[in-house]
Amino acid sequence: MTATTAKIYIKNLRHNLTLIRSKISPSAKMCVAVKADAYGHGAIRCAKEAVACGADVLAIARVSEGAELRAGGIKVPLLMLSLCSPDEADELVRLDITPLVFDFEYIKLVEDAAKRAGKADYAVHLAVDTGMGRIGCLPEECVPFARYISDSPFLSLGGVCTHFAVADSQKESDREYTQMQFRRFLHATESIEKAGISPGIRHCANSATTLDQPQMHLDMCRPGIIVYGYYPDELDRAYFEAKGEPIDLHPVMALTTKVVAIRGFEAGNSISYGRTWTSNKKTKIAVLPIGYADGFFRRFSKAGGFCGGIDVAINGKPYPVRGRICMDQCMVDLGENSGVERWSEAVIFGPEESGAVQTAQRLADETGTIPYEITCGVGKRVPRIFVE
Ligand SMILES: *Cc1c(COP(=O)(O)O)cnc(C)c1O
Repeated sequence: MTATTAKIYIKNLRHNLTLIRSKISPSAKMCVAVKADAYGHGAIRCAKEAVACGADVLAIARVSEGAELRAGGIKVPLLMLSLCSPDEADELVRLDITPLVFDFEYIKLVEDAAKRAGKADYAVHLAVDTGMGRIGCLPEECVPFARYISDSPFLSLGGVCTHFAVADSQKESDREYTQMQFRRFLHATESIEKAGISPGIRHCANSATTLDQPQMHLDMCRPGIIVYGYYPDELDRAYFEAKGEPIDLHPVMALTTKVVAIRGFEAGNSISYGRTWTSNKKTKIAVLPIGYADGFFRRFSKAGGFCGGIDVAINGKPYPVRGRICMDQCMVDLGENSGVERWSEAVIFGPEESGAVQTAQRLADETGTIPYEITCGVGKRVPRIFVE
């Protein structure tokens, strides 16, 4: 087995999924986001666990992701949250992926593909832009689209949805914005109903609103990041504790590697590209075969632009990265008498039981990003090892 792996703790995934399912009313569906290879955790395995824990629908972002899941034996409805290119429409229909639509050109693209495939009433969901500024029709435009879809012999309106821009913020103005988006969304779905058209599944809740705003669950929730054990940005553990509704999420991924060499250096030796760090005393330096091509980004080292300096855990103790993180390797300062041996495991981030001294949340906080980007960034060549 290669030294650098991402361990996926299935027990933690199951814990999070069960917790989330319990927060959603039994009458509402759960649509688990497994886009981007399940936020880097391995799409097929995570999709299977999600279905076993009560997911009714899985959310993807690409036709290729749908193809992978279908080939992996996933049979539940797949909702595609972003748009595909025209030459993928036939495959989309063949894989029975439910697209989000919001303009006539794209609706017709799907309609033509459904017609060619001999489908009647192929389900699509109408996306409404209530303030995200990404995909969706304006709320006041939704009725003609809903009518066109429900009148087409080849299409049916399976649902109507929107997406929140600032639901994970604690700021009062952001909370008001989310309420405003929700009101616009309800108004849109009501206008479709008033036109005599069933809106199908009405859904808007991402992770933040799934945990924080039960009245926004409607007919389905679309949790993502919380499934993988991270809080929706400002709605962190402390927020839910203060609210009197503690939420205990467990991080699912641990990024681990091994000490593949230990080098002894005297004072005055520089480490790595750019010679940004030089030993000022005798020390031992561990070489780890992990670098930015694996998702251990250059900016995670002090010399890579980030000011804090990140530690790597070996035998449960933190050791600082020295010099720049390279593409495939990096160096860690063990000091003179650490007792760390060659082939010891080193943990970059992960849940407590992995021996990590930090989670992806801390790495994200220290480097100006969000845990989503850290777990999604774990490279393709890093095998995902599922720890049952
Ligand atoms: C990714 C995504 C989600 C899940 O978002 P989280 O913040 O991870 O819960 C839900 N809905 C849409 C449209 C998305 O793109």
